Amino acid sequence: MDELESVAEEIRSCKKCKLWLYRKNAVPGEGNEKAQIMFIGEAPGENEDLEGKPFVGAAGKLLTKLINEILGLNRADVFITNIVKCRPPNNRDPEPDEIEACSPYLDRQIEIIQPKIIVTLGRHSTSYLFQKMGRRMDSIGKVRGKFYQWNYKNDYIILVFPTYHPAAALYNPQLKKVLEEDFRKIKGSISSKTVTLDNFLYGSGDKGKESNRNSSK
Ligand code: SF4
Repeated sequence: MDELESVAEEIRSCKKCKLWLYRKNAVPGEGNEKAQIMFIGEAPGENEDLEGKPFVGAAGKLLTKLINEILGLNRADVFITNIVKCRPPNNRDPEPDEIEACSPYLDRQIEIIQPKIIVTLGRHSTSYLFQKMGRRMDSIGKVRGKFYQWNYKNDYIILVFPTYHPAAALYNPQLKKVLEEDFRKIKGSISSKTVTLDNFLYGSGDKGKESNRNSSK
């Protein structure tokens, strides 16, 4: 069993917060263990809870479209997860004690994957990573659409890019435009940092850590 799957197994049997009482399935996340881009949302919704997979409802379809059509990637190229792995009842916001109980799983997923870019979708995952970076987060509207350098464990740099949660853009054409614009910025960054997309995705030894170390030489 690989390391990510072993974290996923722990999540599926986890009872560290009250959300386990309401779940049909925990949703550990899915994607590529060698992903260079990680997407972190808020919490599973009804469809995700039923299927045990992240972002499979209407918001997930929009996210998948943005990944496919703007980034030119497949879901299998990236890793998609949430800050909280079980569905809060009636899709309410995750509570601080639930985020505190669940976030160590996310921390371990980041540690294993070592992505170059983390895209935070919405205020909860953005606020969590900003806290880790020692930054103050105002509203998601103020911080979105820019790259922030996270000096991960004082060892290498991960670029954190906050944007809106796709669910917020579903019925708001203005927000959808902003989300698309943000994904074009991510695409621009991928293109400018690499010779080819294949190089970015699969280039030898180019996980975030290695790549950052090499570029700082
Ligand atoms: S939300 Fe996280 S901490 Fe709470 S029961 Fe589910 S996996 Fe465990």
